[in-house]
Amino acid sequence: MKTLSDYNFKNKKALIRVDFNVPLNDNFEVTDDTRIKAAKPTIEKIIKDGGAVVLMSHLGRPKGKEEKFSLQHILSKVEEILGQKVKFSADCIGEEAIEKSKNLKSGEILLLENLRFHAEEKEGDQNFAKELAKHGDIYVNDAFGTAHRAHASTAIIADFFQEKCFGNLLAKEINNLDKVLNSKEKPVTAILGGAKVSSKITVIESILDKIDNLIIGGGMIFTFIKAQGGNIGNSLVESEYEKTALTILQKAKDKNVKVYLPIDCIVADKFAADANSHVEEVDKISEPWMGLDIGPESIKNFAEVIKNSKILLWNGPMGVFEFDNFSGGTKAIGLAVAEATKNGAYSLVGGGDSVAAAKKFGMEDKVSYISTGGGAMLEMLEGKTLPGIAAIQK
Ligand code: AMP
Repeated sequence: MKTLSDYNFKNKKALIRVDFNVPLNDNFEVTDDTRIKAAKPTIEKIIKDGGAVVLMSHLGRPKGKEEKFSLQHILSKVEEILGQKVKFSADCIGEEAIEKSKNLKSGEILLLENLRFHAEEKEGDQNFAKELAKHGDIYVNDAFGTAHRAHASTAIIADFFQEKCFGNLLAKEINNLDKVLNSKEKPVTAILGGAKVSSKITVIESILDKIDNLIIGGGMIFTFIKAQGGNIGNSLVESEYEKTALTILQKAKDKNVKVYLPIDCIVADKFAADANSHVEEVDKISEPWMGLDIGPESIKNFAEVIKNSKILLWNGPMGVFEFDNFSGGTKAIGLAVAEATKNGAYSLVGGGDSVAAAKKFGMEDKVSYISTGGGAMLEMLEGKTLPGIAAIQK
């Protein structure tokens, strides 16, 4: 695996694919700069070596050149975080853009306009990738969030470089996932939650070979409970996946993976923050009640398993954590993961909503690693080879 430390960037121009797809408010101000900060170590290493940096990224989902998705909006934020002036090119390809990168001196940084202003980016167009490649001597991929896409700037472009490597962030993501998926330490426990079982089936099936315990929470439990003959009232369910749920439980049994489902939950009389609620056995829910969080007995059981684990992987909330009254399960499991980490376990949290939950409950510094790429992480857990990673390794 080639990383930044394999290269000295003195007098070299590095073309870095970063993930600056940050949220903007109505005044086009950056509301969460985590992703820009995350790219800083890679950029700093190259500048420190005496190299120059060309940054390329997408922002949002523009249809053609839409001003509101211009990377110009984030330029001042990038300058503030990197602590230096950053030049800007109003197009990511073309004569003017190439001229700007050609004239870049050691220590200087250039940010290119939104890659997705050209449809060829998402199409993975060869010619577009070739044009982009003219900006640098070494290609660095540091965008984990898009590593599962075979786009021009994330994968195709690598063919036009002799010298290419992973940036710090991407290398860190790969190493941390590897710690979980190929751990020699045991027991390994996966905690999966979230709304739907359908979106997690492939992940569950492929990690069964890597784990000892599987804790399931969130809305997806009710498909399992109903499949086992329980009454779930108005809880979220995917009836067409009941059979799949039973198959997963059987496969887990065959592979000696212990599955922990909740035994109780917090039920609500409507899907709302101010709903009436009480604790109920998870398989004895009657209408109009619906389960929106795991209950106290389940928390106790889950926390015990977590406490005794050496490796923890957490993806997806235990309940509707966006509503304070139904966030207790997610918070308690988060605390249990933090406690286990303090006592020496390794913990990886990933996937959009669990990251949001970890932040909400102030756990960011209390787990071993928080993954930045939701879809990319899930695909890696599914055992897929990500195009953005394969392109560097080729
Ligand atoms: P996912 O994107 O599949 O990880 O699902 C995350 C979403 O699942 C969050 O927005 C939660 O509010 C939601 N969720 C978790 N538990 C439940 C539940 N018991 N009923 C309905 N939605 C839930």
